[in-house]
Amino acid sequence: MGGNEIKYIQQAFDTNWIAPVGNNLLELEQDLEQYLQSSAQVTLLNSGTAAIHLGLVLLGVQAGDEVICQSLTFSASANPILYLKAIPVFIDSELETWNLCPIALEEAIVDRISKGKKPKAIIAVDLYGMPYQVEAVRTVADKYSIPILEDSAEALGSTYKGKKCGTFGDIAVFSFNGSKIITTSGGGVIITKEKSLKEKALFLATQSQDKGVPHYQHSEIGYNYRMSNISAGIGRGQMEVLNINLALRKKIHQFYINLFKDITGVTVFDAPTDDYCSNYWLTTIVIETSLTRGISREDVRLALLEENIESRPVMKPMHLQPLFKKFPYYGGNIASKLFENGLCLPSGSNLSKEECERIKTVILALFKEVA
Ligand SMILES: *Cc1c(COP(=O)(O)O)cnc(C)c1O
Repeated sequence: MGGNEIKYIQQAFDTNWIAPVGNNLLELEQDLEQYLQSSAQVTLLNSGTAAIHLGLVLLGVQAGDEVICQSLTFSASANPILYLKAIPVFIDSELETWNLCPIALEEAIVDRISKGKKPKAIIAVDLYGMPYQVEAVRTVADKYSIPILEDSAEALGSTYKGKKCGTFGDIAVFSFNGSKIITTSGGGVIITKEKSLKEKALFLATQSQDKGVPHYQHSEIGYNYRMSNISAGIGRGQMEVLNINLALRKKIHQFYINLFKDITGVTVFDAPTDDYCSNYWLTTIVIETSLTRGISREDVRLALLEENIESRPVMKPMHLQPLFKKFPYYGGNIASKLFENGLCLPSGSNLSKEECERIKTVILALFKEVA
């Protein structure tokens, strides 16, 4: 926390707006719109998952429709497809950004169309804060007139060619879950390009109450997805420390680059070119077992765990998940190899110097044993 969060929470109490309505919501929406420096229309919701769900509703996804989704992601990217009884079609990653492979994407679209159904939307993820191949994915999407839902849940602060993630999709989302780069304890954002879509998102998020009648009247399915004014107060304070957190994450990333630079077979995942600027939400490594004399991702994870240091394998792709494996998948084994050999390292903004030293000791000891 930065400190001012409590001040904005106090404002909610002072004005008695302990509800999903109030000034903190309006102020935080403005803060975010300013931050994104585009015509973005920001609507605060109570989770990133809710934002993806409403995003798909706004794009007209209905039961039986097909929705393309990056396979290497967190399950929350794909679950809302199932909420709508639509069908996910999973796509492999490319190695440069680990995100949606434009080649496999086009193959999938062509094949789904030949089977009689054009996908309704494409969910492209900025995984671990790294922007996806914005232009290549956009070219394919536009060629077949399919809208993009950008899952920027992990990528607040990231940029591609100087433009902020969260502004590339026809619709985009952020998450303010406790695990993300800034938090409202739980919360999310849906970003639309037009004011009318923002109004529609707000309408759906507050139970779809028909206007112009004194009683509760509903013509559409509604959702209870609006953020609380208390949470928005936390968010206002967090926006003030976003740049500080971004700098801290970058520093942690640099620490890992230095740590691994002389260890053969371990690569710290980094931006492919200067066009891509990650927020380094998490720093990840890939371990090439054939070059480390057999030290595997699990060996590194368990060595850290031995010292009570948590790390986690890279996301298990959705097409390999018990819940999703019956759905179509296009591509090769890039995502599954990243899962097999990739590890997410401790990357919290509050990681201390002493903690970095502990990590360093474990890593150097493990790789020295076999040197
Ligand atoms: C965290 C996350 C979400 C979901 O956000 P919540 O606010 O936790 O619901 C969606 N997609 C990705 C890639 C995420 O990391």
